[in-house]
Amino acid sequence: MSGFLDDRYGSLLPYTPGEQPKTNDLIKLNTNESPFPPSQKAIEEAEKELRRSNLYPDPECVALREKFAEVLGNGLTKENIFVGNGSDEVLFFAFSAYKKRGIAFPDITYGFYPVYAQITGASYKEIPLGDDFSVDVDGLIEQKGTIVVANPNAPTGMVLAKSEIVRMLESDPSRVVIVDEAYVDFGGDSCVDLIGKYKNLLVTQTFSKSRSLAGARLGFGIADKEIVRDLNLLKYSFNPYNINRATLALGTGVLFDEEYTKKNCREVMSVREYTREELEKLGFTVLDSRANFLFAAHKSVTGKEVYEKLKNKKILVRYFDKDRLRPFVRITIGSKAQMEKMIEEIKNITEEA
Ligand code: PMP
Repeated sequence: MSGFLDDRYGSLLPYTPGEQPKTNDLIKLNTNESPFPPSQKAIEEAEKELRRSNLYPDPECVALREKFAEVLGNGLTKENIFVGNGSDEVLFFAFSAYKKRGIAFPDITYGFYPVYAQITGASYKEIPLGDDFSVDVDGLIEQKGTIVVANPNAPTGMVLAKSEIVRMLESDPSRVVIVDEAYVDFGGDSCVDLIGKYKNLLVTQTFSKSRSLAGARLGFGIADKEIVRDLNLLKYSFNPYNINRATLALGTGVLFDEEYTKKNCREVMSVREYTREELEKLGFTVLDSRANFLFAAHKSVTGKEVYEKLKNKKILVRYFDKDRLRPFVRITIGSKAQMEKMIEEIKNITEEA
């Protein structure tokens, strides 16, 4: 630290992103990206926009918001849609906006939540998951303030029933419930249809996973228009041009190619089930994932060992050096060919053990 740094950042523990290797010769299954390229239609739109990069992009992101509202249906309009530079940015604004009575989230979930709580100066409480990795809804409700849940959760991939989200929403209409639906398109049950009924619901989604745009950085807050106004207040006080021209065009373009997205999601789900069966045959316990990754533990090899041995074979997965997570590896679902290769290598690892 420089000594110039403001005191309140001195003890900040930043988020550790998954490794981003500089070479292309690895099978990359560590950051839950899509194995499929972005939609060709979207790329063509973005190329045109790159030529206009001398001009600022639309700060209101109107075309994108209108199209996304139409695709989401449920009577939503662009007034219900906030656009962020990745859903990470949306979550940061939401933590900043809704921290006055504290923030609660599960102890095993997306690693950015405690970081956002710290940087925004929120008081926060991490509520332990049950022994079966289920979310303790009553424990969250007992807290007074904002609740944040990822549904499906990360890194478990497990889903929380919509009725449980409703219970949180109804426990106190004066608290905001943030449902992070980064992985919802791989078999989850979205809460977007509840927005008309609950003014205290904020759903976040991303185009990084199901829509193959992780590198473009595009995320959304979907909520009652008052909540969208709050988020815009923060955005316009920070960076009105938070989405660049090419990304806006990619995002709008991919929404005109919904069949492509749906086909890719079906493929990921089918490859996920294949991978899960193969891992179970090799003695892994695999949690019931509805996301584009699996969280699996072997009886005789730790997560770190699997990670290291796979890395030697140029396959990158992720492990977490945290109490209950040590036996597990998190494996992003890649293409069928990538998963076959990964299974072959994991077979050698478990046989050695
Ligand atoms: N929420 C969860 C649960 C995630 O795993 C991620 C991806 N790391 C994000 C949000 C953020 O995704 P992005 O900023 O790419 O939209």
